[in-house]
Amino acid sequence: MTQIIDGKLISSQIKDEVKERVAALSKKGREVTLAVVLVGEDPASQVYVNNKKKACEYCGINSKSFELPESTSEAELLELIKKLNDDASIDGILVQLPLPKGIDEDKVIMAIDPAKDVDGFHISNVGSLCVGREGLVSCTPAGIIELLKRYNVAIEGKECVVIGRSNIVGKPMALLLLRENGTVTVCHSRTKDLKEVAKRADILVVAIGKPKFIDDSYVKDGVVVIDVGIHRNEDGKLCGDVDFESVKDKTSAITPVPGGVGPMTIAMLMNNCVAAVENKTK
Ligand code: NAD
Repeated sequence: MTQIIDGKLISSQIKDEVKERVAALSKKGREVTLAVVLVGEDPASQVYVNNKKKACEYCGINSKSFELPESTSEAELLELIKKLNDDASIDGILVQLPLPKGIDEDKVIMAIDPAKDVDGFHISNVGSLCVGREGLVSCTPAGIIELLKRYNVAIEGKECVVIGRSNIVGKPMALLLLRENGTVTVCHSRTKDLKEVAKRADILVVAIGKPKFIDDSYVKDGVVVIDVGIHRNEDGKLCGDVDFESVKDKTSAITPVPGGVGPMTIAMLMNNCVAAVENKTK
C-alpha cells in the first residue's frame, strides 16, 4: 500500500518549530517582521496574502500590510521596496505575484534586498543555491525537500525526475535534489519521450501546470510522486498535475491534492522569515 504524504501535518509541525524559534528570538528582544505587499485586487492573490498573514500571526511573526491600488506604477512600487529595504525593522519582504500588467516582475524581484527576499526569487539567492552557498530558498521546492526528509525518503543516489523548469518550482527543485546528491533529470515542454524519461524516476516531481496530466503510463512501480500542481476542476474540486487515482497503486508514496505540497509553501515562507533574522544574528 502506498503512503500518503501528509503536507498538512508536516506544515503544522514546521510552523510550530518556527513559532518556537520566533519565541526564542523574542526572549532576546528581537522581533520578526514581514512586509506583505499586494498590488491590485486579484481575488486569488487576496486569499493567498490573507493566508500568509494568518500564518504569521500563528507563528508570532509581525506582518505589515502594504495594499496598493491596481493603478500603482512600477516606479512607485520600486520606491516602496527601497523604503522597506532601508527599514531596519523589516526582516522580510514579500511581493505577491502576479503583478498588474505594466510592472516588470523581474525588476521588482531584483530590487528586493536579497537578505530580505523571503520568497528566495532574487538571483543572488538562486545563485547561492546553485553554487551550494547558504541563502533563502524558494518556498515550494524547499517544502518538498522537507516532506521527503520527514517521510524518510532517501534522495542520495536516487533517480530524480522533475517535470517543469519554471524559475519558482522546477529549476530550484532540481538544484535542491542535486544538493541532496540525487541524480537529477529536468523535463519540459520540448522533452522527447517524456513517458520514457519519467519512468526512470525513483522520485518524480511534477510541476507542469496541467490538470491530471500524469497517469500510470508515466510511472514505474515503487516510485515516490510529488504533485506540485493545483487546479480547480469543473465541480469546483481541487486536483493536481497528477491523476492521483490512476497512479497511486504504483507508488510507494504520493502527495495528495489538496493537503500535500500546497500547505508546505506557506510553512517554508514562515521558516524563511525567521531564517532571515537568524542569518543576520549568526
Ligand atoms: P509554469 O507554467 O511556470 O511551468 C510549467 C512547466 O511545465 C514549464 O517549464 C513547461 O516547460 C513544462 N511543461 C508544460 N507542458 C509540458 C509538457 N507537455 N511536457 C513536459 N513539460 C511541460 O508553472 P509553475 O509555476 O512551475 O507551476 C506548476 C504547477 O504548480 C501549477 O499547477 C501551479 O499552480 C502549481 N504551483 C503550486 C504551488 C504550491 O504551493 N503548491 C506553488 C507554485 C506553483
